[in-house]
Amino acid sequence: MRSPDELTTAFRAQGLKMTPQRQAIFRALHQTTDHPTAESVYAMVSADMPSISLRTVYQTLNDLTTMGELVALDLGTGSTRFDPTADDHHHLVCVACGAVHDLFLDVQVAVPAAQAAGFSVGRPEITWRGMCPSCSDRPPAPQTEQPAQREETNA
Ligand SMILES: [Zn+2]
Ligand SMILES: [Zn+2]
Repeated sequence: MRSPDELTTAFRAQGLKMTPQRQAIFRALHQTTDHPTAESVYAMVSADMPSISLRTVYQTLNDLTTMGELVALDLGTGSTRFDPTADDHHHLVCVACGAVHDLFLDVQVAVPAAQAAGFSVGRPEITWRGMCPSCSDRPPAPQTEQPAQREETNA
């Protein structure tokens, strides 16, 4: 992800209006290596700038995606994730909390021409699912109360 100043220059070069709200979004994105949702970017920015709207956050994230500064990903976590790392990479996704970790692996998966159905095949994007360290450490959620076992009195 480019610095907030570089993004400001790139935004202006596209003829897009620069506002303090947008600059706050750039700073928030620059500080995170997470793959935030629009809602979590909104939560980060609105802590310091309560006047910002979720709509502004969506619009700015979409503009950055169109400019190639962010990649919008569907990692099966329920919301679009915005990835500030535009270089080719893969992901580890926590099935419990949706945490995303970047993996830089040179994965070679050839698709046999016979199975490609005439597609011109690009690069693979691989998502591995598992549990992040904090979810692995968390004790399992308490079971709902089981009815007490009645003791058999009949001998
Ligand atoms: Zn997790
Ligand atoms: Zn990523």
